[in-house]
Amino acid sequence: TALSLALSAAVPAMAQTVSPPQVSQISTKKVTVAFLLPENSSPRYEQVDRPEFTKMAKMADPNVKLIITNANSNPSTQLNQAQSAITNGADVLVVDPVDGKAGAAIVAYAARNHVPVISYDRLIQDSKPAGYVSFNNTKVGELQGQYIADHVKPGGSIIMINGAPTDPNAFDFRNGALSVLKPLVEAGKLKISYTVMTPNWSPENAFQETQQALTRLNNKVDGVLAANDGTASGAIRALQAVGLAGKVPVTGQDATNGGLTFILEGLQSMTVFKYVPDEAAAAAKFAVSLAATGKVPADLVNAKVNNGKIEVPSVLLTPIVVTAANMKNAVIDSGYASLSSICVGD
Ligand code: BGC
Repeated sequence: TALSLALSAAVPAMAQTVSPPQVSQISTKKVTVAFLLPENSSPRYEQVDRPEFTKMAKMADPNVKLIITNANSNPSTQLNQAQSAITNGADVLVVDPVDGKAGAAIVAYAARNHVPVISYDRLIQDSKPAGYVSFNNTKVGELQGQYIADHVKPGGSIIMINGAPTDPNAFDFRNGALSVLKPLVEAGKLKISYTVMTPNWSPENAFQETQQALTRLNNKVDGVLAANDGTASGAIRALQAVGLAGKVPVTGQDATNGGLTFILEGLQSMTVFKYVPDEAAAAAKFAVSLAATGKVPADLVNAKVNNGKIEVPSVLLTPIVVTAANMKNAVIDSGYASLSSICVGD
């Protein structure tokens, strides 16, 4: 209408008279945020991170332009994706690195183009990201380790199917678990008989690793510390082949539909639930605010994490244990998963 046209025409003029010029420039500039996801072997990225980040970025700034990519576990694809996002006008990159070390090249490239980087879920090493948004990953490992400590029979032998060697989180998970398990090992109450990292977090690799462990240990395995639900699914397949599935505790992480289903079927014992919508929301707010003001939003930051070069201003969220006992309460009632997607029927 004529009135709304007149009003919208009046806004910039008013802004110019009452505000310093930079402010009116910022408020009219369209912000572009790029969100770079690492892989497809875990369902969370396309099913949860992407739609939640999109929703929350638009909530933080209805005019935001988004560029969202997935590198399919390839670090050089991810570097290319970062470069083309910058060419296409990205004001800030939110990067979940395929490879925590290789990610430093993305931060350096972005810095040469005056584009800040927020490290998402996995911390980019030896570089200067503007911020980091994740869960307390050491805590994730502690919860998995504690579950094993509480449920494996005394003197039992466990195997550790850890995450990808390119993912710094995989070491946090492992170290968190070891902080709980080492004292038990030293007291002779538990044996860690086999431990391995799983390239690309691939369930197929985890299957083969578990098969190898079972063969080497003559099937004497009393528990599997699997780093996430994907690796757990591979481990469970190997346990099934020797009749051990459902008989020994198996950990996981991510509360995927597959993991939750295995828990209800008694094949997997627990998962570490990370409410990813909160993580995506924090990252989206961080990014929009950083792009608009050039400053790290102090109200969001609750931690500092060292990445080998700097103390990165961080937002760290809290993971929780989910078993069959609290699944409805924690995962279903929060809307994270629906009963229909995890009840597979017979
Ligand atoms: C994430 C996990 C995920 C794993 C594999 C880790 O960095 O924190 O949630 O299961 O990568 O994608």
